[in-house]
Amino acid sequence: MNASPRIAIIGAGMAGLACARELQDAGFRPVVFDKGRSPGGRLATRRLDGDIRFDHGAQYVTAHGDAFRSTLAAIIEDGAAARWRPATANGIDPAAEDWITGTPGMSALVKPLAAGLDLHADCEVIAVERETAGWRIRRADHATGDCFDLVVSMVPVPQARRLFGPVRDVAEALDDVTMAPCWALMLVFAGPAAGVPDVLQTGSETLSWLSRNNSKPGRNAASECWVAHATADWSSRHLELEREPVAALLVDAVQRMLGGAMPRVEQAIAHRWRYARTVRALGRPCLASRDGTLFLGGDWALGARVECAFDSGRAIARAIIDGRWKP
Ligand SMILES: Cc1cc2nc3c(=O)[nH]c(=O)nc-3n(C[C@H](O)[C@H](O)[C@H](O)COP(=O)(O)OP(=O)(O)OC[C@H]3O[C@@H](n4cnc5c(N)ncnc54)[C@H](O)[C@@H]3O)c2cc1C
Repeated sequence: MNASPRIAIIGAGMAGLACARELQDAGFRPVVFDKGRSPGGRLATRRLDGDIRFDHGAQYVTAHGDAFRSTLAAIIEDGAAARWRPATANGIDPAAEDWITGTPGMSALVKPLAAGLDLHADCEVIAVERETAGWRIRRADHATGDCFDLVVSMVPVPQARRLFGPVRDVAEALDDVTMAPCWALMLVFAGPAAGVPDVLQTGSETLSWLSRNNSKPGRNAASECWVAHATADWSSRHLELEREPVAALLVDAVQRMLGGAMPRVEQAIAHRWRYARTVRALGRPCLASRDGTLFLGGDWALGARVECAFDSGRAIARAIIDGRWKP
C-alpha cells in the first residue's frame, strides 16, 4: 500500500463531494467519477430556454449539525446559497428552521465543494473488480480502467448493489436499506398563479409537494415556474410509464389542487427519480470492507436528507484520514 493511496470516489452528489473535499483539504488527491453531465446528483437544476431554471430534485436544505451548518454558512458567504422564506400553507412553518436553497439553482450548492477536484463527469463506472494491484475501476468510456488502493462508493443503494453485489462483507448490509422513487413535474405557466401560497404540502394521494420555484432567491421572477413531486406510492405505481403521459396525469393533479387559480400551462416536463428518497436507512454513516479498502455511503446510510449525504461523506473521509494511509 502506498504512503499516499490512490483513491477513487464513485458519485459526485453531496456525499461524494463532501468526502472528496475533506480528503483533498487533508492532502490526498482523490479521483471522482460521475455518470452525470455535471456534479450534484439529486441536488439538480434543469435549465430551459429563456433563463428558466427548475430545481426538480431536492428543494431546499436544512442543517441540524454544526459541520453542515458551517459549510452552508461559507457557501452563503460565497453567494452560492441564500435563505428561502416562502409563503406556505397547510401548517408548514419554514420559520421553524432555516430553509436554504442554492442560487441561482440547487446545483450551485455543490460547486464550491467541487472546485479544484480531479472530477470526471459523463463517466459511468460499470464494474469494480478486486485485483492484486488494488481495485480496478472499469468505466463505460475506458473498459480497461485504472487501479486504485481505496474505493469510495457514493451512489444510491440499488446502484451500489449492482457494482458491489459480489463483495460479501458489504453486500448483505445493503439489503437492509430501501429507497423509493419520485416523479417530478416542471411547469411553466403563462402568468402568475395569484392568491395561492408558494408551497403546498397537501396529503393528497398523488402529490406530496407543490411549490413556486420562482419564489426562491436569485431566480428569474418574470417566469412563473412550479415544481410538483408525486408521492412515493403514486410514483412506484407509475414508474415505468413514459414521461409524456406522466406529465399529463400530474398536470391534472396540480389543476385539482390550484383550481381556478391555475394559469394556462406553457410547458410541462416530467422527470423520473428512480432512487429518490431513503425509506429505511442503514443507521450508521457508512459500510466498510474488512480490509478497509472499500467504503460505501450516501444519504441512505443515515436518512433522506442532503445533510445525511454530507455527514456520510465526511465520516468516510475521516476514516481514511485517521487510518494508516497518511499523505
Ligand atoms: C425529488 C426529490 C426531492 C428531495 N427533496 C429534498 C429536500 O427538499 N431536502 C433534502 O434535504 N433532501 C431532499 N431530497 C434528498 C436529497 O436530494 C438526497 O438526500 C441527496 O441529494 C443525496 O446525495 P447523495 O450524494 O447521497 O446521492 P446523489 O445525489 O444521488 O449522488 C449520487 C451520484 O452518483 C452518480 N452515479 C450513480 N451511479 C454511478 C455510476 N455507476 N458511475 C458513476 N456515477 C454514478 C449519480 O450520477 C449521482 O450524481 C430530495 C430528493 C429527491 C429526488
